[in-house]
Amino acid sequence: MSGTATTVIETGASAASPPFVVTGGAGFVGSHLVDSLLAAGHRVVVVDNLVTGREKNLKSALDSGRCEIVRADLSSSPDLPRAQGIFHLASPASPPGYQRHPIETLWVNAAGTRNVLEAARRSNCRVVLASTSEVYGDPEVHPQTETYWGCVNPVGIRSCYDEGKRYAEALSMAYRRVHGVDVRIARIFNTYGPRMDPNDGRVVSNFVTQALENRPLSVYGSGSQTRSFCYVSDLVRGLVALMAVEPIPEGGPVNLGNPKETTVTELAKIVAEITGVRLQTRTDPSPADDPRRRCPDISRARKYLGWSPEVPLADGLRATVDHFRAELGRAVAA
Ligand code: NAD
Ligand code: UDP
Repeated sequence: MSGTATTVIETGASAASPPFVVTGGAGFVGSHLVDSLLAAGHRVVVVDNLVTGREKNLKSALDSGRCEIVRADLSSSPDLPRAQGIFHLASPASPPGYQRHPIETLWVNAAGTRNVLEAARRSNCRVVLASTSEVYGDPEVHPQTETYWGCVNPVGIRSCYDEGKRYAEALSMAYRRVHGVDVRIARIFNTYGPRMDPNDGRVVSNFVTQALENRPLSVYGSGSQTRSFCYVSDLVRGLVALMAVEPIPEGGPVNLGNPKETTVTELAKIVAEITGVRLQTRTDPSPADDPRRRCPDISRARKYLGWSPEVPLADGLRATVDHFRAELGRAVAA
């Protein structure tokens, strides 16, 4: 399996078409999305301030000559070019990332989202908003359907992200109702794959890095909490389909995630197997407000997009481990 997602948008790309704008395009998901758009023949403008992204994620994209990067904070009104569509991904996304930058996280989801929606009005183009399963908080309904309103602590340490994304969704719906902006909301569940930052503190990055360094895997709390892990190429295919599809009633929202639920302990076992190390774990405290279960109902994605994930967890993890091995190897060599 290649580390790069290669889904294409089936609309006829031509050199004269305006570019797609990808905010947060230097990040993990964004860079795969950019590669996919370029593979379909489009031009792409990335807007990113690199707060959690890495320019090296865009190396092959920038080498293509059809991608440019605007290094700017989306919260402070950078000039967004005329676009044929805007994918809005800019926001810290890992719990350590957004807890290190709580105000910036709220701001990019508020002011940054407003800038995206105003730019979409000017360009009369569609927007795909990268929202999150975190809008469901610590859900009391399983699996989570889009009609569930969630269970979020509005003042806890995750609230900068959860409430930031809930605000971004609300603002998007207001622009849709008041100005007719065609915005589609993707509620993305845990996604993993090559180009994750080994230091982002997410469970997959931590476990793979720890296993490759032959250290115990840090299980937070009992390890019985669940997540549903989606490989990045599957997610990108879903985001592209959401941009391309005919308008969805009420803008979606549409859950994009893998409905296969896995406990953190199970994940540790699989990572140990794939990296070929003896499983050693250590127990660390459970973070505040850590959701206990998370699993998407993807009926809407199946119905409107004909989408469902295809990459099994073990296959996706193997590709991720290969990438981390190469990246950590380079770091050691340096
Ligand atoms: P990431 O941190 O790798 O990428 C986010 C990108 O946004 C980074 O390149 C960062 O520098 C950029 N950014 C942040 N604030 C910015 C600002 N003010 N101006 C310009 N750029 C800014 O994270 P990711 O995992 O690639 O996530 C991408 C998007 O998908 C995020 O919006 C995230 O909330 C959403 N999402 C991701 C997951 C997941 O599991 N990866 C799950 C749910 C939702
Ligand atoms: N987790 C863990 N060990 C780690 C990092 C995370 O056990 O080193 C747990 C975390 O408590 C959560 C799950 O793994 O229950 C997923 O965490 P992650 O930060 O990847 O994403 P989240 O879904 O919480 O945003």
